[in-house]
Amino acid sequence: MCSRQLQIRSLADSALPVHCLSKTVRPIATWESRRLALSTAPHRSQATAAGNFVLRRHLPHGPLPSLGRDMASTCEVPTKARGGKFSQWVSKQVVDEQVPSISPSTPPALYPSDEPMQKEPLALKPMAEDEEEAFRQYMDKIGENRDGTSAGFNRKAFPWFTPKEPAKAPTVSAEVLEAAMEFKPKPRTSPKLWEVDSEGEEVPLCPRCSLPVGEFAYQGREGKQTCVHTECMAQVMSQEAQREEDARVKRENVKKEKNRREYDIGWRMDSVPKSAQWAERMGCKPAPQGLCCLVLDEASRTVKVAATAEPSAAVNLEYLLLALKVRKTASREPLFSLDPVDPQNLEKTPQKKVYEPSWLAGTSVGDVMFQADYFLKELALGEYDMPVVGMLSVFDWSEMKDKDKSWAGREWYVVKKAEIRMAEDNTLIPHVKMGVEAREQVVTKKGLEDAPVTLPHHPLKKFADAFTRNFDLIAERKSVVFHLRELAKASAMAKYLIDSKARLDPTWYVLADEIVKSTEPEAYPQIPQLWNMRGNSRIKLKEGRLVDMVTGGQSNLQAIYGGVEFGLDRFELAQRHALQGQKPSVPGVQLAQSGRPMFMPQRFQLGQRPEMPQGVDLNLDKFSLSTEERFAGRLPPCSGGVGSLEAKTVLGRAFLQALQQKSFAVKPEDQSLLLNIFKVPQCDRVEEGDAFIPPDPNLEYLTKVRSLVGEEKTLRERRKQRFSDKSFAVANPGLDFPRSWTPRFQVELEGRVSQTAPTKFGLKKLEVDEAFKRGLLENVLPAAAPEFNQVTEDGIVFRIYKIGSLEVRTMQEADEPEAIAVVFSSGTASWEGKAVDSEDVLRDRLVKCKVYVEAMEQESQLHLAKDARTGCNFYIVLETEKKNRIVTEALGAGALSWVQNPHNLEDRNSLAKLLFTADCKDEVYARDVKQFQRTLVLPPSAGLRKHYAKAVYKFVSGRSFRGKWGGKLRRFAPPPQGGNLGLAALGRSSDFLNVMWLARKSSNKADLLKPKTPAYY
Ligand SMILES: [Zn+2]
Repeated sequence: MCSRQLQIRSLADSALPVHCLSKTVRPIATWESRRLALSTAPHRSQATAAGNFVLRRHLPHGPLPSLGRDMASTCEVPTKARGGKFSQWVSKQVVDEQVPSISPSTPPALYPSDEPMQKEPLALKPMAEDEEEAFRQYMDKIGENRDGTSAGFNRKAFPWFTPKEPAKAPTVSAEVLEAAMEFKPKPRTSPKLWEVDSEGEEVPLCPRCSLPVGEFAYQGREGKQTCVHTECMAQVMSQEAQREEDARVKRENVKKEKNRREYDIGWRMDSVPKSAQWAERMGCKPAPQGLCCLVLDEASRTVKVAATAEPSAAVNLEYLLLALKVRKTASREPLFSLDPVDPQNLEKTPQKKVYEPSWLAGTSVGDVMFQADYFLKELALGEYDMPVVGMLSVFDWSEMKDKDKSWAGREWYVVKKAEIRMAEDNTLIPHVKMGVEAREQVVTKKGLEDAPVTLPHHPLKKFADAFTRNFDLIAERKSVVFHLRELAKASAMAKYLIDSKARLDPTWYVLADEIVKSTEPEAYPQIPQLWNMRGNSRIKLKEGRLVDMVTGGQSNLQAIYGGVEFGLDRFELAQRHALQGQKPSVPGVQLAQSGRPMFMPQRFQLGQRPEMPQGVDLNLDKFSLSTEERFAGRLPPCSGGVGSLEAKTVLGRAFLQALQQKSFAVKPEDQSLLLNIFKVPQCDRVEEGDAFIPPDPNLEYLTKVRSLVGEEKTLRERRKQRFSDKSFAVANPGLDFPRSWTPRFQVELEGRVSQTAPTKFGLKKLEVDEAFKRGLLENVLPAAAPEFNQVTEDGIVFRIYKIGSLEVRTMQEADEPEAIAVVFSSGTASWEGKAVDSEDVLRDRLVKCKVYVEAMEQESQLHLAKDARTGCNFYIVLETEKKNRIVTEALGAGALSWVQNPHNLEDRNSLAKLLFTADCKDEVYARDVKQFQRTLVLPPSAGLRKHYAKAVYKFVSGRSFRGKWGGKLRRFAPPPQGGNLGLAALGRSSDFLNVMWLARKSSNKADLLKPKTPAYY
């Protein structure tokens, strides 16, 4: 570990370079836009799993990342002011260093990891004064406009989220609070299966919900004699399907994990080559401790390696040497692609890694291309949580938009822009902007061919666009993407050096040959395919029966291919003249003789090239021409020679240390920016240890990243607001939340999935004081099981608890205690609709009568102490000839309700159970029922609601409930369990499956179970 190699140096031998001169940068080469293609190869995505597969290899394996933690536990003194306070900080560390071992109490975990942390006592070197100084100088540059680019960031400003003014919430009644505080989770006793109602009728109860069961039931999993509501059975099946799916995902993840281990798939931080070993041999002695850059000598047209503390100027020397060799010998950029071994059998064939040139196999350059490509593919398939809050995978998009459509396509890494800038001291600064592009693949006679994705809503394009938009933030967080960008920088530099005919030391090529010669042959030239699959199904209910279960996986035909190709060739002419330019007449703007900026690519020149690059789209229209402002840069000197501060310090170490302490000694907004980029669970770059390269402090770059982080923050706020609103529906959390929150197994009632069903009815937000919150958090919630419990990409846990009549929603941020977001009390459900009777409806003839039962949370809570019975409410839905629907029920006080076409009927029905259905007698009209209501005398008993339902039912249909409770005559066998639901079958990668079963009639011996077709069906 480098921290151990670090030596304390006295200030005396650090010659500080002067940094304050700001002069103009000359970009000496610039070329614009295009596809730095990272193509990937056909592989078959077979369908998907829930997407929580964790990339183990990205997690720390050894004590390496413990650096930050250990540092943190010893250095508690925060740096306060910008500059000046570092000496205190250091002296504190020095004192702490004398403490022999680190207190084992709380090493704050930087990122979640299941792996046992190796707590190796690490004798910390205090940060050398040089290092402090270098770090302070770096931090001073944060947000500085150093390259003269326009500070105004032209992305549309993201809308800041402004929460609505909360309505004044009612104060909670003492009674409700008391009930909540006394809430005890129900003891797990075997549920009561029967009860005798007030009229002496024996009524079976559903073991799932303890409500009475009507004329139709399924045999419960609890035993042959149990009857379960159709609605409850649908829940049972959906849970079983989910369990089956979870088990399948688990099995597949084990397989994938095995593949990763076996075939060495997964990025390792230690695979990034260190520049120091090459720097000396490239003529920079002694090798810089930190970052290396190239400095041009314009007179001799030679370049030399120097040290730098400017992240944007940093070049990975091994990447550079290899890229130079590729360019010199093959006149191209490194290319990688993952191709099917047998293109005729895409489904089963393994994939082979293809490198151009082939000697790249096994080198660091080959590795970073392969791993970055594979990572992109895995992300696209939804294997991991997204690196940026709110991003969706290709599968997520496809699930929402066109689940049943099949397509195949590629995701490419592209270079949007590449140029070489030059600082005042002739330091060469490679500047690239990258993104991802989508191409659909269509089957032609010749095989799969690329076609541009034109549909803006194509899942591939949606994903590619989001990746591109967030590219820089992803690169800062994900080590493998960061280093791919470093490779692109090195390749652009190599191309520039060759094309500009810079005189390179021939030993550089010898070094490259040496690297290649010492490279072990690639251990796994072929790897198994990556696949993914998601189970989705809908359990359909119609007229109180389970009709079928439609099970679908995300079609295997949605395949994602890819690869890596640095198509920098198309930029070639752009910088051909780069170094042949004379001294600029105007600083910062190099003008050709014509007076135009000289790095404009010119159409005819490209055509003159004999060797047109293959497989590269030379769409010249995409070359947007450079404008002057790109040349008008200001970048102070940024290289340092032997003995300079740059050469002696490791910036990354100091940066991670400050990160760990959450103290960067910068303006609060910059501090919060840095924490929000790096100190989040999605970030694995902190595991890079001393090799960590801090972000480019330049204003333009930071502004862009700041804007992306701002969008994340906005979304985070919106999530909190949405979650705290009573309209938040568990069955459909919405686009703001991770897609995985939307249940994949849903119940479809009468042809409709209720997406808006509330968790409880009549929710009213309560104003609760701190003492009550504390009471809930300390005494009630720990014993309660949340009914909803989900985690976001950034590690915030959202939970919903139902505590009697209360609904408590909480949020918990990483490393923070759980906090109450909102408390609701639920009331009695009410019908939302016109209370006014429409005369037209009253003249309607009635055709059907349905009796529903629903639980009454509020009352059940209040009655709980006296009577263990669950309170329930009965209501009747009358359907008229003209498709009007009337709801009538007896209310608590004995009043009778009558509501026509309430708009929340479906939502409320989705939480109730259908007990009885009957056709109405001939010539019964709505007004007759209304008349009947007036004449009806109800007993003032607890059974009032039921009594009213019975009376109306009998009045309209001539039938009675008597003898029908429990579906004694018509009990259907449960649907076949496990295996037959189609999910198992999805493990094969056959076409989209549509599996259906029908509730089958049981042929059991017991008379009771013998099915009879209902007369009215
Ligand atoms: Zn039930």
